[in-house]
Amino acid sequence: MNLSGFRAEDAFKPVFTGALSHAYIISGPCRDDVNALADTLAAALLCEGSAAEKPCGTCRSCRKTLRGIHPDVTVVDRAGDRLEITVDQIRQVRADAVVMPNEAARKVYIIRSADTMNAAAQNALLKSLEEPPAQAAFVLAAENPSLLLPTVRSRCAHIPLFSGEKEFSGEAAELADRFFTALGSGPLQFAGFTFELEKLDRVRFAAFLEAVSGLAVGKMREAVMSGRHDETVRLNRVISALSRARECAKANVGAGHICGMLCALLT
Ligand SMILES: [Zn+2]
Repeated sequence: MNLSGFRAEDAFKPVFTGALSHAYIISGPCRDDVNALADTLAAALLCEGSAAEKPCGTCRSCRKTLRGIHPDVTVVDRAGDRLEITVDQIRQVRADAVVMPNEAARKVYIIRSADTMNAAAQNALLKSLEEPPAQAAFVLAAENPSLLLPTVRSRCAHIPLFSGEKEFSGEAAELADRFFTALGSGPLQFAGFTFELEKLDRVRFAAFLEAVSGLAVGKMREAVMSGRHDETVRLNRVISALSRARECAKANVGAGHICGMLCALLT
């Protein structure tokens, strides 16, 4: 199935193949969808089934994760009516993460509303992301990933869910393809390409930004699913730069400035 179109009702469908990483951000506008994919990913990380696609949904580990009783899955969320996840909560995670798993090959920490971790909490988590205990994996679920520190984002494979899958065609799709070609060709080629983008009017520029973001997400999905971690790190930078570009465009910042920012961030 198409991962970026993942919905809450798809929870625990086998969607992952290939090697899985130790740290993920799952983001999207719908909290239920994001949380469901986080749970599915946790199950995939612990699945003991032999099928290539995980989670299998039927092994002992999957059944326990499905029922929310797997001893090696820890869910962290804001406590009570608090607005933030605190540094103390993350310190507990860090202390627990160095203890061996109970029965699975590793422990999985799902951090819900991860974008509400305050700066101290994020910096505490960063230490575990930088030097992850061999048997720990972290799944950060966030509605607004731009609230996560760039240092945290850069350590995680990012799976953004969009509210709707769109098909792009025509000029926007063609420019989106050329964006990646230019990016791979070097700084001069990329600068030349952005010079062309600057000439687009607002509507066409916005359409390009949407198309290229969609394409980036698709590339990230492929990289995540096939375990190409170097590629996920590179695409992380692209996706976060594009998300800033989209925010700027919404705030009526001109295409020229946005292109300058993309050049600075990506080359
Ligand atoms: Zn399983």
